Order: sequence, then C-alpha cells, then structure tokens
Amino acid sequence: RAKKEERGSIRFFEPEMDRQLREKRVMLHDLDLVLENKQLELHFQPQADPDGTPFGFEALVRWRHPEKGLVPPGVFVPLAEETGAIVAIDEWILRKACQEAASWPKPLSIAINVSPMSFQHNDLPGLIHSILLETGLNPKRLEIEITEGVLVQDFSRACSILRRIKNLGVRVAMDDFGTGYSSLSYLQSFPFDKIKIDQAFVAQINKNVQSSAIIRAIISLGEALNLGVIAEGVETELQRDFLADAGCFEMQGYLIGRPQPIAAYAGIVGRPPETSKTAMVG
Ligand code: C2E
Ligand code: MG
Ligand code: MG
Ligand code: MG
Repeated sequence: RAKKEERGSIRFFEPEMDRQLREKRVMLHDLDLVLENKQLELHFQPQADPDGTPFGFEALVRWRHPEKGLVPPGVFVPLAEETGAIVAIDEWILRKACQEAASWPKPLSIAINVSPMSFQHNDLPGLIHSILLETGLNPKRLEIEITEGVLVQDFSRACSILRRIKNLGVRVAMDDFGTGYSSLSYLQSFPFDKIKIDQAFVAQINKNVQSSAIIRAIISLGEALNLGVIAEGVETELQRDFLADAGCFEMQGYLIGRPQPIAAYAGIVGRPPETSKTAMVG
C-alpha cells in the first residue's frame, strides 16, 4: 500500500519536472547557438560621482530570445556556465564592450564582468592584451569585475592570472562585496583596485541598522587598504546621501541610470544625437 502511494506521488510530480527539464534542454541548445544567431545584446549602466556626473559604465549582457524576449543574465549565465558556453560568451562581451568604449569621444571607463569559468578555460590575460591592441582602448579605462567564485577554485592560479591582468594596466574590482564567505582574507592576499558594495546592503540603508554599519565598515576598510569603493543598486536620494556622508564617492543604480543600449546615453559618451542610433546588437 505504501509503495502504491509513493508511486502515485512520483507520478504527480512527473509532468512538471518533465516540462522543466525539457525547457532547460531547449534553453541549453539555444544557448549554444546564441553567438552564431547574434542574440546577445550589451546594455550599459552609468557609474557616477555623488553629484550624478558619470565617469564610466558597466557592461551588462542580455539575451534577446526569439520567444522568451529579453532574458536576464541571472537566468542564462548559470546555464551557460553548466555547458561551458560562458567562455565564448565572455570573450564576445569583452571584445564588444571594449570596441564600444574605444569608439566613445569621451575617455570614460568601462567595467566588464567575467565568470569564474573563463579564468579556468581561457587565457584571459592574453585575450585582454589582444583586445586592447585590436581596439586601441587605453588599458587605464578598462576594469574587470570578478566575484569570489574566481578565487575559490584554485586560489594561487587565480591570483597569478589577476596579477598578469593588472600588469597590462587594467584594474580589477571585486563585485558583490560582502556577500561571500571570505572576502576579507581575499582582500589581504590580492591587490584589488576597487570593491563594489553589494546592492543587498544598499537596499537596507535606513531600514536595518546592521546594513548601515556594514556599509560604513566596508568604506573604512577601503580607505585603510587604499581601495576604491563603489556602491551598487543605489535607487533613492536617501541612499545616495547616506553613502556620500559615509565617504563612498562612486555610485551605480537606477537613481543614476538603468542599464540601457548605449544609444540612450549618447550625450554622456559625447556623441551627437544623430549617430546615436547605432545599437549594440549582434
Ligand atoms: P552584477 O555585476 O552585480 O550587476 C549588477 C546587477 O544589478 C545588474 O543586474 C543590474 O542591472 C542590477 N542593478 C543595477 N542597478 C540597480 C538598482 O538600482 N536596483 C536594482 N534592484 N538592481 C540594479 P543584471 O544586469 O540582471 O545582471 C545580473 C548579474 O549577471 C550581474 O551582477 C553579473 O554577475 C552577471 N552578468 C551581467 N553581465 C555579465 C557579463 O557580461 N558576463 C558575465 N559573466 N556575467 C554577467
Ligand atoms: Mg558587476
Ligand atoms: Mg554586483
Ligand atoms: Mg551580482
């Protein structure tokens, strides 16, 4: 009798699990063709001083799927990491974002996210070096954003890769700072240029005493270690003012601007409006 019930409950979940698995298989297959089909798009989100003056952008990828519309990286990057497709995708993004930044009349900075898997399976310092040569982008304008995931797998190898990237004159930022397990010890062992305060802390400013205290602590840490500090996910003037008072002078978030095709920011990059229709597609 128990067996029968068990079997029954398994049958109950089967169709939903089947559907999810099938959908995932289709997505994984579509992802393999994403570059060939020119379905990736880069959006750019401004990074600014507390007074709102932009000094650079972060490149954020989106997947223009024929049926699903604009798929966010939170959905497809983990899938692309499963298949390894992320390595080619990261390479495409690096090249595309550097080409784009090199074409701006104003020498603004460009921050680009790189997945841990690209560290394992690509010669990133070599790749970045050739892209800098290809595009003529000044290395000082380029910043590579990594998360703790890069350092977790093979720490000494990751450090030597990061050092080689820094030796090109490129900056390295630690993304989502404060959300991982051992961010502090990583800061001690690797000379990052900048830390990005995770948006989870910013969202809690003036709602949660602990978050405000953690933000102040991260900013002091940045000062003590001579690191730049940027806050992500700044959505309100109250958050901006708290951060500026606490000594954080770089901000990114919807308050300053949403991630959008670069055409939306033609004025900021110094382009006349009529050439601003060149969207970053394909
Ligand atoms: P991230 O690098 O920490 O990027 C910040 C995320 O916060 C972005 O989400 C951005 O759109 C969102 N955001 C920015 N300002 C605000 C705000 O004021 N409020 C709120 N609620 N959210 C804000 P997005 O674009 O969905 O990207 C998610 C993550 O996907 C990124 O987190 C990054 O880890 C990854 N990712 C994005 N682009 C790339 C890429 O080109 N390559 C790789 N490997 N990963 C990428
Ligand atoms: Mg980032
Ligand atoms: Mg982040
Ligand atoms: Mg993130």
